[in-house]
Amino acid sequence: MIIIDLSERQNEIVNIVKKEGPIRGQDIAKRLSLTRAALRADLAILTMLGYLEARPRVGYYYSGKTITSLLVEGIKKIKVGDVQSVPVVLNQSQTVYDAIVSIFLEDVGTLFIINDLGFLEGVVSRKDLLKGLMGNSNSQNMPISMLMTRMPNVHYITENEDVFEAARRINEYEIDSLPVVERVDNGNSVSYTVVGRISKTNITRIFVELGEK
Ligand code: ADP
Repeated sequence: MIIIDLSERQNEIVNIVKKEGPIRGQDIAKRLSLTRAALRADLAILTMLGYLEARPRVGYYYSGKTITSLLVEGIKKIKVGDVQSVPVVLNQSQTVYDAIVSIFLEDVGTLFIINDLGFLEGVVSRKDLLKGLMGNSNSQNMPISMLMTRMPNVHYITENEDVFEAARRINEYEIDSLPVVERVDNGNSVSYTVVGRISKTNITRIFVELGEK
């Protein structure tokens, strides 16, 4: 769904259809003192954008979609895999010092922690690091695994899910980002490899892009 600003006339058409729909094209034209031909382009655009629906012999009626629902529809069409960022990943044996260096070098707020097999074990945020340093300033020796939020408590998402679902989880769990994972079935257990990252920043960017269209 494309989100664009409607012209004054298009808004008038939507309002007429909202009040009087289903209504035929020629009757809309009459209300606006225009010819049916002069309205053809606007009606085509409004139908294409999903504001109006057209039924043969019945006319146009309002699809009930508000700007908000069109925006949500737009967001639901974008897959996590299309907008995800590169994940910043550390091994669980690395230290708190390594984690702080990565956060500065890679300019991220959240690190994903993996085990020696490359599977997701945990997540470390900026506040986890601050908390760890408050009690123990020896960041060079402290393994990052001491501070991380561990599996199975890590919230994640997959590439095929939509961005709305990512935003919903980030909101619900009050976190800054989600690892994007691929599920690996090992027979009697399931592990996850980290293939991406989706954060509040990605979602804010999409929101601005959709708003600007
Ligand atoms: P910060 O703590 O820097 O404000 P967050 O709000 O993302 O950043 O993190 C809050 C807490 O939630 C931290 O303890 C962190 O380990 C944990 N956390 C962050 N991301 C996730 C996630 N995807 N799944 C589970 N826990 C997470």
